Amino acid sequence: MTSFVFITGGVVSSLGKGITSACLGAILEARGLSISMIKLDPYINVDPGTMSPFQHGEVFVTHDGTETDLDLGHYERFVRTAKGGRNSNFTTGRIYETVIAKERRGDYLGATVQVIPHITDEIKRSIMKGAGDADICLVEIGGTVGDIESLPFLEAIRQMSVDHGHDRVVYVHLTLVPYIATSAEIKTKPTQHSVKELRSIGIQPDILVCRSEKPLPDEQRKKIALFTNVREDAVISAYDVDDLYKIPTIMHKQGLDDIVARQLRLDLPAADLSEWDSIVEAKQNWQTEVNVALVGKYVDLRDSYISLREALLHGGIHTRTRVNVHYFDAEQIEEQGDGCLHGMDGIVVPGGFGDRGIEGMIQTVRYVRENNVPYLGICLGMQVAVIEAARNLAGLDGAMSTEFDKNTPHPVIALITEWQTQSGSVEQRDEQSDLGGTMRLGAQAISLAKGSLAATNYGKTSIEERHRHRYEVNNNYRARLEAAGMRFSGTSVDDLVEMVEIADHPWFLASQFHPEFTSNPRDGHPLFIGFITAARQHHEGAVLRVAEA
Ligand code: GLN
Repeated sequence: MTSFVFITGGVVSSLGKGITSACLGAILEARGLSISMIKLDPYINVDPGTMSPFQHGEVFVTHDGTETDLDLGHYERFVRTAKGGRNSNFTTGRIYETVIAKERRGDYLGATVQVIPHITDEIKRSIMKGAGDADICLVEIGGTVGDIESLPFLEAIRQMSVDHGHDRVVYVHLTLVPYIATSAEIKTKPTQHSVKELRSIGIQPDILVCRSEKPLPDEQRKKIALFTNVREDAVISAYDVDDLYKIPTIMHKQGLDDIVARQLRLDLPAADLSEWDSIVEAKQNWQTEVNVALVGKYVDLRDSYISLREALLHGGIHTRTRVNVHYFDAEQIEEQGDGCLHGMDGIVVPGGFGDRGIEGMIQTVRYVRENNVPYLGICLGMQVAVIEAARNLAGLDGAMSTEFDKNTPHPVIALITEWQTQSGSVEQRDEQSDLGGTMRLGAQAISLAKGSLAATNYGKTSIEERHRHRYEVNNNYRARLEAAGMRFSGTSVDDLVEMVEIADHPWFLASQFHPEFTSNPRDGHPLFIGFITAARQHHEGAVLRVAEA
């Protein structure tokens, strides 16, 4: 029987509720439990697929192709048994969509359809679907307590302890305990208020996780416990740390997993956090460092590339290399040239949509190709690599993706409907009117050419990786590009290009899929490990060249 842990947040947003939930999942998993994780988002979009990365950060794609909140990325990076998918992320929009569809079908038999019980019942049903048969299901509720939008979700989770019994439900509340520098005081009042708010809707938290700059002094811990009716040992201090991957151990040391086990009456084996300890150890003992440039268009909001940044760091953990990620706006390279890239040991062009900065990305590919700098292109980063090769190696002037130029003479990247029917022409303009749900999404099988850089890095020729894109390499151009030096080293079952490389280059690899979604700190990912190893070699070569000069 599955038990539930609900995580709510109070005082302010951006306290790291996603990370806290993921870390709690990690330590419970380390006690031998299987975990499922759900994110409930109070906004009205049906899914985050159509939301701008500028506003909402990255869209995380699960194995089954669901476009989800970036918190699901944290879950997968921290918890092995938590396999995110269609039933792991529910928004208000999606809940209402289901309820309205049922109402239209007449499922409610003429009843007046209301927030309580119809919306709340649907939320509970969704939680049960997402929980699967895991020992523990962790449910994170987006937003902060007190938001109008969160109310139906909070009401639903309140009911769950009545439905299932309080020994199968744990309420965790995350708050902020600020330090006021002018009076040198730690303030517990916002936490008291937040818990009061939560109790006014009928939820008494069992555990408080208090975010603060420094570890919470005992005196404040006592005070919070007293005012919030939470046991003193269940007031956990989540102080700022320089390394995310230290958090599971910090929480475990304060007994967070024991408190959950106690409440759920579970008799569990001791926690094995040795893998987390070795990650922290690796990060404290770097052998060398590399500078990696990320040339994209959403560089102002770091959360837009959160999985990618993490995957690069995982590559570093597994090669004992400190990875300094430098963000560059592709548009700036377009305007000011590639000078900022000089000295970089590796360059990544990540995924993206829309034409802003495209020429800057193409210029970046030219730079890495001509200067033998390791290159990792992801999705759009592969498409620009193909465009660059078409223009500068195959002499196809004006080559472009039809996403950015409908009238290009050489549509080397185009919608399948454009190139399959018209043999390279771009007649069938398929303006997507409904932007939600028109993409190639989720994990698909890919075969890699024997002896290719791709196959060498993966150490095998059959892989599975996640996709999120509309446009594809136009197969009508493959022969010409191959003749010019581009190698198509990965293809899908339906013969779409999945990976390209340039043979005459130390490490040039680009993929149509998103390897960053399947990297985690404990296992790393072969492409990122390979890329960072190549960047390391580049770095060592550069150091040698300086020494010789
Ligand atoms: N915009 C490109 C496409 O739709 C690339 C998408 C991406 O990089 N995720 O195919």
